[in-house]
Amino acid sequence: MKGRRVALVALLNAAFLSISSGAMAGDGFDVVALGALGGIEDGNLSAYLIHPHDDDRAVTCDAGTLVNGLRVADAKGAFDAVKVPPESDLGRVGYVLTKQIKGYLISHAHLDHVAGLVISSPDDSNKPIYALPSVGEALVTTYFNWQAWPNFTDRGKEPRLKKFTITDLEPAKATPLADTKMKVTAFPLSHGGVESTAFLIESDDDAMLCFGDTGPDAVEKTTHMRDIWSAVADRLKQRRLKAIVIESSYASDRPDKLLFGHLTPKWLLASLHELAGQAGAGSLNGLPIVISHIKYALTREQQPQKKILDELEAGNDIGVRFVMPEQGARWHFR
Ligand SMILES: [Zn+2]
Ligand SMILES: [Zn+2]
Repeated sequence: MKGRRVALVALLNAAFLSISSGAMAGDGFDVVALGALGGIEDGNLSAYLIHPHDDDRAVTCDAGTLVNGLRVADAKGAFDAVKVPPESDLGRVGYVLTKQIKGYLISHAHLDHVAGLVISSPDDSNKPIYALPSVGEALVTTYFNWQAWPNFTDRGKEPRLKKFTITDLEPAKATPLADTKMKVTAFPLSHGGVESTAFLIESDDDAMLCFGDTGPDAVEKTTHMRDIWSAVADRLKQRRLKAIVIESSYASDRPDKLLFGHLTPKWLLASLHELAGQAGAGSLNGLPIVISHIKYALTREQQPQKKILDELEAGNDIGVRFVMPEQGARWHFR
């Protein structure tokens, strides 16, 4: 009898422990593709809304398209669970933009990554923009300069309207994302002579990576991508890295000298094999890889999505799950 009671207490303790460690483990991330492509349509440019599955306070990784992407996502049901308080006069798209998006992570200041942020700024709410110092500087001098657009930031040309607080990120150092349960670590990328950024987003013990534009290490003559893989290899081994959003702008037949700081399936696969080398065989099995920033052309030819996916799958001996995003799609990565 006594032995049985001891066993029961041990069982209850084990259950309690697993509940408490389960709470720390989190439930992964929800991601909504507000803008899926890298050109040339102005209503569908790089922007991914990201929040922990159990907490809808979000940030976006780049903001090439905001309101248009929110409308498309809303029409596809991505925000059906969002309850706008009855006392609010906002529609659901306005509510998500101003109340649920708590900040913007901007990888670099190219127009296809910031157009939505600039254009919606008059109706946006006060919030931080998180960026590496060179990127924050470029945003203020290029757009928020009272020539291209009023200065909605807290830096640069007076008067400063101070809607957006430019928050410098220090490379490889985690920074809390205000009014969310997430934190972010920025890693520099080389993008054809422009500094770009990959963001490691963490919540509880979960993590995901969202890349801005980047060329291959070998072409850019850097080790930036390899350094990021070193930083996340342990999380991958522990199954704590839930997804990667990364670009493949062109198909693999694009000559290296015409990459302009972008990846192709050939180069992305080579880099993912480096990650597998660091994290160990089998560590990437089932990992979702969202392929962002595909550039298409206004030709009669078949658009490049299928070709790019076919090339990626042909070299996929590491078991990752390539995801071709459609604007407005919502995923739960866990
Ligand atoms: Zn770019
Ligand atoms: Zn771009």
